[in-house]
Amino acid sequence: MKRLEQRILEDGVMEGEDVLKVDSFLNHQMDVGLFAEMGKEWARLFADDHVTKILTIEASGIGIACVVAQQFGVPVLFAKKNKTKNIAGEVYSAQVESFTHGRVYDIIVSKKFLGPGDRVLLIDDFLANGAALQGLIKLVRDSGATLVGAGIAVEKAFQPGGDLIRSMGVRVESLARIKAMSSKGITFCD
Ligand code: 5GP
Repeated sequence: MKRLEQRILEDGVMEGEDVLKVDSFLNHQMDVGLFAEMGKEWARLFADDHVTKILTIEASGIGIACVVAQQFGVPVLFAKKNKTKNIAGEVYSAQVESFTHGRVYDIIVSKKFLGPGDRVLLIDDFLANGAALQGLIKLVRDSGATLVGAGIAVEKAFQPGGDLIRSMGVRVESLARIKAMSSKGITFCD
Protein backbone atom coordinates (compact mmCIF):
# COMPACT_ATOMS: atom_id res chain seq x y z
CA MET A 1 0.00 0.00 0.00
CA LYS A 2 1.71 3.10 -1.27
CA ARG A 3 0.38 5.48 1.40
CA LEU A 4 1.75 3.27 4.19
CA GLU A 5 5.11 2.84 2.45
CA GLN A 6 5.34 6.60 1.96
CA ARG A 7 4.56 7.24 5.62
CA ILE A 8 7.24 4.75 6.71
CA LEU A 9 9.78 6.55 4.52
CA GLU A 10 8.77 9.95 5.90
CA ASP A 11 8.31 9.15 9.60
CA GLY A 12 9.88 5.75 10.34
CA VAL A 13 12.95 5.78 12.57
CA MET A 14 15.41 2.90 12.66
CA GLU A 15 16.51 1.57 16.03
CA GLY A 16 19.54 -0.65 15.66
CA GLU A 17 19.66 -2.89 12.57
CA ASP A 18 16.26 -4.52 12.63
CA VAL A 19 13.73 -2.47 14.62
CA LEU A 20 11.63 0.20 12.94
CA LYS A 21 9.97 2.75 15.21
CA VAL A 22 6.72 4.13 13.87
CA ASP A 23 5.53 5.87 17.03
CA SER A 24 4.25 8.97 15.27
CA PHE A 25 1.48 7.18 13.32
CA LEU A 26 1.12 3.56 14.44
CA ASN A 27 2.61 2.46 17.77
CA HIS A 28 2.06 5.45 20.06
CA GLN A 29 0.23 8.26 18.30
CA MET A 30 -2.18 6.61 15.85
CA ASP A 31 -3.29 7.94 12.44
CA VAL A 32 -6.81 6.53 12.22
CA GLY A 33 -7.32 7.90 8.71
CA LEU A 34 -4.41 5.73 7.60
CA PHE A 35 -5.81 2.80 9.63
CA ALA A 36 -9.17 3.20 7.85
CA GLU A 37 -7.45 2.95 4.47
CA MET A 38 -5.57 -0.14 5.67
CA GLY A 39 -8.85 -1.63 6.90
CA LYS A 40 -10.47 -1.04 3.50
CA GLU A 41 -7.60 -2.80 1.77
CA TRP A 42 -7.86 -5.90 3.99
CA ALA A 43 -11.66 -5.82 3.61
CA ARG A 44 -11.12 -5.95 -0.17
CA LEU A 45 -8.51 -8.73 0.03
CA PHE A 46 -10.57 -10.92 2.39
CA ALA A 47 -13.99 -9.95 0.98
CA ASP A 48 -15.02 -13.52 0.11
CA ASP A 49 -13.85 -15.14 3.34
CA HIS A 50 -16.92 -14.53 5.53
CA VAL A 51 -14.83 -13.24 8.44
CA THR A 52 -16.73 -13.36 11.76
CA LYS A 53 -13.99 -12.16 14.11
CA ILE A 54 -10.78 -10.15 14.14
CA LEU A 55 -8.11 -11.47 16.51
CA THR A 56 -5.07 -9.45 17.54
CA ILE A 57 -2.61 -9.27 20.42
CA GLU A 58 -2.30 -6.51 23.01
CA ALA A 59 -1.25 -3.81 22.99
CA SER A 60 -0.15 -2.36 19.70
CA GLY A 61 -2.41 -4.46 17.45
CA ILE A 62 -5.61 -3.29 19.11
CA GLY A 63 -5.97 0.14 17.52
CA ILE A 64 -5.52 -1.15 13.99
CA ALA A 65 -7.74 -4.16 14.64
CA CYS A 66 -10.63 -1.95 15.83
CA VAL A 67 -10.62 0.06 12.64
CA VAL A 68 -10.36 -3.11 10.54
CA ALA A 69 -13.25 -4.71 12.44
CA GLN A 70 -15.41 -1.73 11.61
CA GLN A 71 -14.84 -2.40 7.91
CA PHE A 72 -15.90 -6.04 8.31
CA GLY A 73 -18.71 -5.28 10.77
CA VAL A 74 -17.48 -7.92 13.22
CA PRO A 75 -16.08 -7.87 16.81
CA VAL A 76 -12.42 -7.60 17.76
CA LEU A 77 -10.92 -10.03 20.21
CA PHE A 78 -7.45 -9.33 21.59
CA ALA A 79 -5.22 -11.94 23.16
CA LYS A 80 -4.16 -10.78 26.60
CA LYS A 81 -0.64 -11.07 27.83
CA ASN A 82 -1.30 -13.24 30.83
CA LYS A 83 -0.14 -12.51 34.34
CA THR A 84 -2.07 -15.26 36.10
CA LYS A 85 -2.24 -19.01 35.48
CA ASN A 86 -4.87 -20.67 33.29
CA ILE A 87 -7.73 -21.11 35.74
CA ALA A 88 -9.85 -24.24 35.29
CA GLY A 89 -9.41 -24.42 31.53
CA GLU A 90 -11.47 -21.32 30.81
CA VAL A 91 -8.99 -19.94 28.30
CA TYR A 92 -6.99 -20.97 25.27
CA SER A 93 -3.32 -20.16 25.79
CA ALA A 94 -0.04 -20.06 23.90
CA GLN A 95 3.53 -18.98 24.57
CA VAL A 96 5.11 -16.15 22.61
CA GLU A 97 8.68 -14.93 22.56
CA SER A 98 8.67 -11.16 22.30
CA PHE A 99 10.77 -9.80 19.44
CA THR A 100 11.13 -6.32 20.88
CA HIS A 101 11.58 -7.29 24.55
CA GLY A 102 13.31 -10.68 24.19
CA ARG A 103 11.28 -12.49 26.85
CA VAL A 104 8.67 -15.25 26.75
CA TYR A 105 5.10 -14.62 27.89
CA ASP A 106 1.74 -16.40 27.77
CA ILE A 107 -1.18 -15.10 25.74
CA ILE A 108 -4.76 -16.07 26.47
CA VAL A 109 -8.26 -15.65 25.09
CA SER A 110 -11.43 -16.68 26.84
CA LYS A 111 -13.15 -19.79 25.46
CA LYS A 112 -16.36 -17.72 25.61
CA PHE A 113 -15.30 -15.59 22.66
CA LEU A 114 -13.71 -18.04 20.20
CA GLY A 115 -15.15 -21.31 18.93
CA PRO A 116 -15.71 -23.68 15.99
CA GLY A 117 -18.29 -21.38 14.35
CA ASP A 118 -15.79 -18.53 13.93
CA ARG A 119 -13.87 -17.52 10.80
CA VAL A 120 -10.92 -15.53 12.07
CA LEU A 121 -8.72 -12.87 10.48
CA LEU A 122 -5.56 -12.14 12.47
CA ILE A 123 -4.30 -8.55 12.50
CA ASP A 124 -0.96 -7.28 13.80
CA ASP A 125 1.25 -4.27 13.35
CA PHE A 126 4.59 -6.00 12.57
CA LEU A 127 5.77 -9.40 11.36
CA ALA A 128 9.39 -10.18 12.24
CA ASN A 129 10.21 -13.75 13.35
CA GLY A 130 6.57 -14.82 13.38
CA ALA A 131 6.32 -15.72 17.07
CA ALA A 132 3.30 -13.49 17.78
CA LEU A 133 1.42 -14.88 14.77
CA GLN A 134 2.33 -18.46 15.68
CA GLY A 135 0.86 -17.90 19.14
CA LEU A 136 -2.35 -16.47 17.69
CA ILE A 137 -2.58 -19.33 15.17
CA LYS A 138 -2.33 -21.84 18.02
CA LEU A 139 -5.21 -20.14 19.87
CA VAL A 140 -7.39 -20.30 16.74
CA ARG A 141 -6.53 -23.95 16.06
CA ASP A 142 -7.14 -24.98 19.69
CA SER A 143 -10.56 -23.33 19.56
CA GLY A 144 -11.64 -25.22 16.44
CA ALA A 145 -12.28 -21.93 14.58
CA THR A 146 -11.32 -21.49 10.92
CA LEU A 147 -8.33 -19.27 10.21
CA VAL A 148 -8.86 -17.25 7.02
CA GLY A 149 -5.48 -15.50 7.14
CA ALA A 150 -3.41 -12.72 8.62
CA GLY A 151 -3.31 -9.01 7.80
CA ILE A 152 -0.02 -7.38 8.74
CA ALA A 153 0.75 -3.67 8.51
CA VAL A 154 4.54 -3.93 8.21
CA GLU A 155 6.32 -7.17 7.30
CA LYS A 156 10.09 -7.10 7.62
CA ALA A 157 10.62 -9.52 4.76
CA PHE A 158 14.34 -9.83 5.53
CA GLN A 159 13.37 -11.67 8.72
CA PRO A 160 12.05 -15.27 8.65
CA GLY A 161 8.46 -14.83 9.96
CA GLY A 162 6.71 -14.28 6.63
CA ASP A 163 8.16 -17.40 5.00
CA LEU A 164 7.56 -19.44 8.15
CA ILE A 165 3.88 -18.52 8.49
CA ARG A 166 3.20 -18.90 4.75
CA SER A 167 4.89 -22.33 4.81
CA MET A 168 2.30 -23.32 7.43
CA GLY A 169 -0.35 -22.75 4.75
CA VAL A 170 -1.59 -19.47 6.24
CA ARG A 171 -2.46 -16.62 3.85
CA VAL A 172 -0.50 -13.51 4.89
CA GLU A 173 -1.40 -10.12 3.41
CA SER A 174 1.16 -7.47 4.40
CA LEU A 175 0.49 -3.89 3.33
CA ALA A 176 4.16 -2.84 3.42
CA ARG A 177 6.92 -5.41 2.94
CA ILE A 178 10.38 -4.13 3.82
CA LYS A 179 13.07 -5.78 1.71
CA ALA A 180 16.00 -4.13 3.47
CA MET A 181 16.72 -1.35 5.93
CA SER A 182 19.96 0.31 6.88
CA SER A 183 21.31 3.73 7.71
CA LYS A 184 21.23 4.36 3.95
CA GLY A 185 17.47 3.93 3.84
CA ILE A 186 14.53 1.55 3.54
CA THR A 187 13.56 -0.41 0.43
CA PHE A 188 10.31 -2.28 -0.16
CA CYS A 189 9.54 -5.55 -1.95
CA ASP A 190 7.84 -5.14 -5.36
P1 5GP B 1 7.48 -11.46 15.77
O1 5GP B 1 6.68 -12.17 16.81
O2 5GP B 1 6.96 -11.66 14.36
O3 5GP B 1 8.96 -11.73 15.88
O4 5GP B 1 7.35 -9.91 16.09
C1 5GP B 1 6.10 -9.29 15.98
C2 5GP B 1 5.81 -8.42 17.17
O5 5GP B 1 6.97 -7.75 17.64
C3 5GP B 1 4.81 -7.36 16.76
O6 5GP B 1 3.59 -7.62 17.42
C4 5GP B 1 5.42 -6.05 17.18
O7 5GP B 1 4.76 -5.58 18.35
C5 5GP B 1 6.84 -6.34 17.54
N1 5GP B 1 7.81 -5.91 16.51
C6 5GP B 1 8.61 -6.72 15.76
N2 5GP B 1 9.43 -6.01 14.99
C7 5GP B 1 9.15 -4.71 15.23
C8 5GP B 1 9.69 -3.47 14.71
O8 5GP B 1 10.60 -3.42 13.87
N3 5GP B 1 9.13 -2.33 15.19
C9 5GP B 1 8.13 -2.33 16.12
N4 5GP B 1 7.66 -1.14 16.49
N5 5GP B 1 7.61 -3.48 16.63
C10 5GP B 1 8.12 -4.65 16.20
